[in-house]
Amino acid sequence: MLELKGKKVLVVGLGKSGLAAALFLRKRGAQVTVSDVRSAEALANDIPALLEEGINVEAGGHGLLTFRRQDLIVVSPGVPLNTPELAQARSFGLPIIGELELAARFLKGRTLAITGSNGKTTTTTLVGEILQEAGLPTLVGGNIGVPVVSLIDQSTEQSWSVLEVSSFQLESTEEFHPAIAVILNITPDHLDRHGSFENYALAKERIFAVQTPADFVVLNADNPRTAAAAARARSQVYWFSMEHPVDQGAWIMDEQVWFRASKDSAPESVLPVSAIPLKGAHNVENILAAVCATRLAGAPAPAVRHSIEKFKAVEHRLEFVATVNGVDFYNDSKATNVDATAKAVEAFPGAIHLILGGKDKNSDYTLLADLLRQRVKAVYTIGSAAPKIESQLRGMVPIHSCETLEKAVATAGAAAHPGDIVLLAPACSSFDQFENYEHRGRVFKQLVHEGRGWKVWQNA
Ligand code: ADP
Repeated sequence: MLELKGKKVLVVGLGKSGLAAALFLRKRGAQVTVSDVRSAEALANDIPALLEEGINVEAGGHGLLTFRRQDLIVVSPGVPLNTPELAQARSFGLPIIGELELAARFLKGRTLAITGSNGKTTTTTLVGEILQEAGLPTLVGGNIGVPVVSLIDQSTEQSWSVLEVSSFQLESTEEFHPAIAVILNITPDHLDRHGSFENYALAKERIFAVQTPADFVVLNADNPRTAAAAARARSQVYWFSMEHPVDQGAWIMDEQVWFRASKDSAPESVLPVSAIPLKGAHNVENILAAVCATRLAGAPAPAVRHSIEKFKAVEHRLEFVATVNGVDFYNDSKATNVDATAKAVEAFPGAIHLILGGKDKNSDYTLLADLLRQRVKAVYTIGSAAPKIESQLRGMVPIHSCETLEKAVATAGAAAHPGDIVLLAPACSSFDQFENYEHRGRVFKQLVHEGRGWKVWQNA
């Protein structure tokens, strides 16, 4: 185990997990400094608690010397690993790890880790609920909003830590070793940070990099880049598929979810697809992955079935908001990339009014063109990505340039007929106009509820 007592440790980036890491390190006796490029005013909420614990804080930029004087550097997931300061620290041979790696060295018990371009939070939440229902001591954390280090004190040799892990967190792992790893899918996202699709995919593959033949990796047989990862796995590969039965894993056939524990065992029917309460084929994929992972973790089939039957969509993930004048409004603010938007559109047969836009992530919106032509009545653009989206989709589908979410909801609400769908699934991040996707989703829901008066929209 990593010895921290008396060690000089620098935490770079004071997000939620940076803060948790700093406090954890201090509690274990390290001399901790936190460095962030944001100003002292921007960090004002956290600084007093840090100073009180005897943690040094460097705000408003990084001093090069700060990086040289350390025994260990812990990097928050939001900070790219190739900053000049980190590059220099690396050249001096300083160990650099992320918060996930730090936590992994101290967590007791077994870990079930879930990554993927989309579906992580939904699947992680469901897996946590299934293991709990099965009576297994379960902790849930990671990218889902609960820093992994904050699980350490509660973990025991018996516990399962169910972790949502992002490519940013996996990028800086070394010994992180889940007993069960899940890759839901790998589709283009975060190309602005990873540089290329292949780099991004390789970061995701780190989830099983140090697994052994005693461990399991659950992969999506229908997603080509995910299936290709199997060639590099040393652990036992399990599959899930919407399209065909698999040797070992979970699949759909005759409107049933099936699971088979090994090539030689009989398939077991888990539940009918009609009993799945979530919308969209993508959510059935998430459920297949969860079935496979939790059966491997030892959850009995009835616990798996019950938990799925009572599972509710996580907020901002294809969440039903309201029916107003016969029009159904759905909030998929978490659809921050093109694939998630495609999946949201595919969840409805047609008559969709789609709100697209926000901050572009170097995405290719032409990938949506065919689907939009088939199912979408009109697109309503918002945010700084609007000109790019409009130029890529011009002529494919009617487009209304709305700039703000307020105007988009009003315009779409006024244009929609009873039976139509208004869908916020913007394919972009939110940071140009909102604090985050949650904020964007909340504003959308509020606008929908305020718009119940209908006249408001008529005047848009
Ligand atoms: P993540 O944590 O990976 O961002 P979420 O469960 O929060 O995943 O869902 C993110 C977005 O992706 C939502 O818009 C959701 O509707 C969509 N989504 C969920 N599961 C999948 C999937 N398996 N494939 C594609 N899109 C998905």
